[in-house]
Amino acid sequence: MKKNILVAGGAGYIGSHMVLFLLDKGYEPIIYDNLSEGHQESILGGKFIQGDLADTAKLHQVFNDYDISAVMHFAAHCYVGESVTNPKKYYQNNVFNAYNLLNVMLEHKVNKFIFSSTCATYGNPIKLPLTEDHPQNPINPYGNTKLVVEKILHDYSHAYDLKSIALRYFNASGAEPQARIGEGHDPETHLIPNVLDAALGLKELKIFGDDYDTPDGTCIRDYIHVMDLAQAHWLALEKLLDGHQTDFFNLGTGTGYSNKEVIQAAEKVTGKKISVSIVERRAGDPPSLVGSSDKAKKELGWKPEYDSLEKIIETAWKWHLKLRKIN
Ligand code: UDP
Repeated sequence: MKKNILVAGGAGYIGSHMVLFLLDKGYEPIIYDNLSEGHQESILGGKFIQGDLADTAKLHQVFNDYDISAVMHFAAHCYVGESVTNPKKYYQNNVFNAYNLLNVMLEHKVNKFIFSSTCATYGNPIKLPLTEDHPQNPINPYGNTKLVVEKILHDYSHAYDLKSIALRYFNASGAEPQARIGEGHDPETHLIPNVLDAALGLKELKIFGDDYDTPDGTCIRDYIHVMDLAQAHWLALEKLLDGHQTDFFNLGTGTGYSNKEVIQAAEKVTGKKISVSIVERRAGDPPSLVGSSDKAKKELGWKPEYDSLEKIIETAWKWHLKLRKIN
C-alpha cells in the first residue's frame, strides 16, 4: 500500500515539485491547496482537494477520508517585501493557518510534519556561511512568522510528541528539468523570474540597492534548485517515518551570488543583454545570506545535483519560455 502524504500547498511552486518527487518515490500525495497562489495545472498526479487551511471542518474531513502518514506544509506566503507592508496577511496564513493544521493533525493522531522554514529566520548574519546554530533574529515579518512556527514545533514536540523537521531554505529557484512545471507567481517579485522577464523585454528590471556592504554593493543570496529542495524533503520524510526526532536543517549550496552576478549569469544563459535600473533598497533585505548545508548532507544524506547558478538558470529559462508562451 502506498503511503498517503498530505501536501499542503501542493499546487504552488515548491509544493508541485515535491508532488512530482513523491510520485516518483512511490508515495501517494494528497494535495490540499486553496489555489490562491497555486495552479491546478501544476499538479501532475496524486489526489487534489481544493481547500483552505483556515477551514477546520474541511481539514478534519481530509484526515477522516485518508489515512495520512505525514504532512508536508508548503502553503505559506513568501514575499519579504510584502510581509513588511502587509504583516497581517503573513501572520494570518503563515502562523494561524499552520497552527490550525497542526492541531487538526494531532486530533487525528498524525504526528509527523515537514515544515518549510527559511534562512530569513536568521536575520542579519553575524557569521557566514550560516549554520543551524546561528542565532535566529529575523529582520522582517516573513522571517518572524516562520520562526514562530519553528517555536510551536519545538514546544509541540515536547508536549505532544509531534515529530517535525523544519527545513530552512535559502533561495528556491529553477524548474523541473523537463519544464513541465516551474515558478509562476502572480505578481512575481523574485529575482530570477524577474531577470528572465527583463531578458524577454517584458519587464524593466529594478535592483533594490547597490550600496550594501558586499563586494559589488548588491545583495548576495544562495540559490538552491527546487528539485534539490524536493530531494531533501523526501529524505527528511523518510527519516521521520523511520522514527527520527524533531530536527531542523539548512538547505543551501554554501555559495552566494550577488544580484549583479545573477544578471550576468542570466545574460550568459539567455544570450540577451539585460538592462537594469538601480532603485532604493527594499525593506527587510539582509545584505548577504549564504548557508552551510553540511548537517543535511551528513545526517539526511542529501546530495544536491545543481552545483552552479547557470545550471539552475538554464532550467528556469526553459520553463520561463514556456510560461510566457515563447518558442
Ligand atoms: N531583487 C531585486 N529586484 C527584483 C527582485 C529581487 O533587486 O526585482 C533582489 C532582492 O532585493 C534581494 C534578492 O534580489 O536582494 C533576492 O530577492 P528575492 O525576492 O528573489 O528572494 P528573497 O531573498 O527576498 O527571498
